[in-house]
Amino acid sequence: MTIANTKTVLVLGGSRGIGSAIVRRLAHDGAHVTFTYARSEERAAALATEVGGKALQLDSGDRTALISAIEGMGALDALVVNAGVLHGGEALAMDPDEIDSLFRININAPYHAAVAAARHMPEGGRIVFIGSTNADRTPMPGLAAYGASKAALKGMAKGLARDFGERGITVNVVQPGPTDTEMNPADGELRDVMHSFMAIKRHAKGTEVAALVAWLIGPEASMVTGAALTIDGGFSA
Ligand code: NDP
Repeated sequence: MTIANTKTVLVLGGSRGIGSAIVRRLAHDGAHVTFTYARSEERAAALATEVGGKALQLDSGDRTALISAIEGMGALDALVVNAGVLHGGEALAMDPDEIDSLFRININAPYHAAVAAARHMPEGGRIVFIGSTNADRTPMPGLAAYGASKAALKGMAKGLARDFGERGITVNVVQPGPTDTEMNPADGELRDVMHSFMAIKRHAKGTEVAALVAWLIGPEASMVTGAALTIDGGFSA
């Protein structure tokens, strides 16, 4: 799938993992890609050079900085909100500040980023949130806050799809299952437990998730909106 015409795309959280695969794929397809990162400065700079894009240090948890950076970018053809954090643990023991920070990055930031981007987005623009199969299935303890944050994206996409539909802007969620990244390495200690829930018993590659994002951004997906597209090897089946 090649993106028709050159598109200007912003990927929030593009320095590592799934985000970097999305940056590479969209740049390969001909997009002009800007991406953000929080801490991985060197890797972000190397990736920007590799793809001929631009890296921007921007903490998604900083609402004011996020909104003003996006509004300052002018017209974006597509926004991909990939930046997300996973804090798991015993619900009764987890630090409430850590939970609120997770909600700020995983829920508040996608909302404010989408609205800021939509202000200047041209007709037919695209907004994609990276959710999780844990929005639909959380078969182990310790993931309530994370699962809730990813479930919120589904309601958000449905609502914003209605808000921006008149302009042909689509808003969707891509919900990966276990995907080999630093957040969830394919050789991690929970590997066998996770694979036991799957029909196809392996971690996905970031490139597989990126391919679905590229399709959603491309011209063939103009009638897909308010949807959650799951790519989880049957984890939630
Ligand atoms: P990683 O932890 O490997 O990478 C996270 C990326 O997001 C990095 O580029 C990181 O930047 C960036 N990021 C994190 N916090 C912030 C922040 N506050 N501001 C800006 N950027 C930030 O995660 P994955 O690649 O595994 O996950 C990407 C997305 O996919 C997340 O939303 C995650 O919830 C979701 N997901 C992942 C699954 C998996 O199995 N891996 C399964 C289902 C969903 P930096 O490098 O600077 O830290």
